[in-house]
Amino acid sequence: MKDSFGREISYMRISVTDRCNLRCRYCMPEEGIENLGHDKILSFENIERIVKAAVALGIKKYRLTGGEPLARKGIVHLVESLAKIDGVEELAMTTNGTLLADQAEALKKAGLHRVNISVDSLKYDKYEEITRGGDLDAAFAGVNAALRVGLKPLKLNVVAMAGFNDDEILDFIQLTINHPINIRFIELMPIGQAEKNCEYRYLSSEEIKSKLPGLIPLNKQEGVAEIYKYPEALGNIGFISPMSNQFCGSCDKIRLTADGKLKPCLHTDEEIDLGEILNKNDDVLLKETIRNAILRKGEKHHLNDGAKPVDRGMSQIGG
Ligand code: SAM
Ligand code: SF4
Repeated sequence: MKDSFGREISYMRISVTDRCNLRCRYCMPEEGIENLGHDKILSFENIERIVKAAVALGIKKYRLTGGEPLARKGIVHLVESLAKIDGVEELAMTTNGTLLADQAEALKKAGLHRVNISVDSLKYDKYEEITRGGDLDAAFAGVNAALRVGLKPLKLNVVAMAGFNDDEILDFIQLTINHPINIRFIELMPIGQAEKNCEYRYLSSEEIKSKLPGLIPLNKQEGVAEIYKYPEALGNIGFISPMSNQFCGSCDKIRLTADGKLKPCLHTDEEIDLGEILNKNDDVLLKETIRNAILRKGEKHHLNDGAKPVDRGMSQIGG
């Protein structure tokens, strides 16, 4: 369906948990966050009901995220039930990959199409530093398993940070040359920890591109990413630039939090609680509520004017 500004909304990001096995410095405080109680987390059955209602409104693409989606028990069953819903054309996941190696095959069989794996450094010590203890080998075991079972096209999400990984840009690019891996550089957004934690600095997509002569624009937009490539490379390179190149005009998403709130925009605190409606067992009302939430999407975010969502961090929204 179209929102109030004529944008076709066809994509829902579903956070299946606010828990995570890592503590990325720009996303989570060291001590973690107070986790939602099990009674507050959407059941698989309710996620299924929401997806069925959303499909009826023309939403075709779904992405499971978190927290860490693979930390949610039974995730393979959820994938299996969502993949079976008529009208779910694309089912993907964003994960840190460290728990993927053991589950990749089952996820693929259950109907997951592809994964984005977040890896902000290719150096052991820096990966451990940014994730506060994460194991790069475990993340790459996930990357290799995803490639092996055919969860593709595979994308690596890299949050670009001056003073942290700006010296690794070419190493990431090299991965796209020799492997069927697409890199997505994401501008750091001043949300939650990223705003409080100023050791890492924002690096614009333009600055990265300026270090990459010979990049060929593919003249296609993939969601909100601009896509480029090097000749002969097996993978491509995308830039997601929420700060420097406000992409709100091509936003096609709505978000669902792990505790059942619809967020029309990542960058505002506005939420529509589905809890009561789910309790009423009225799926027509559920569909109408999702429609109204889509109609409440604003025209654009105001991060560059200093406006900030304060109620939730990224791990609680799902990125
Ligand atoms: N745990 C999973 C993961 O890390 O891929 C899924 C959830 S995570 C919140 C989703 C994405 O949001 C990750 O790629 C992460 O790097 C990104 N992210 C988190 N905080 C961010 C921030 N302040 N600015 C830009 N991207 C951010
Ligand atoms: Fe966890 Fe993902 Fe946030 Fe890192 S970015 S702390 S892996 S939710």
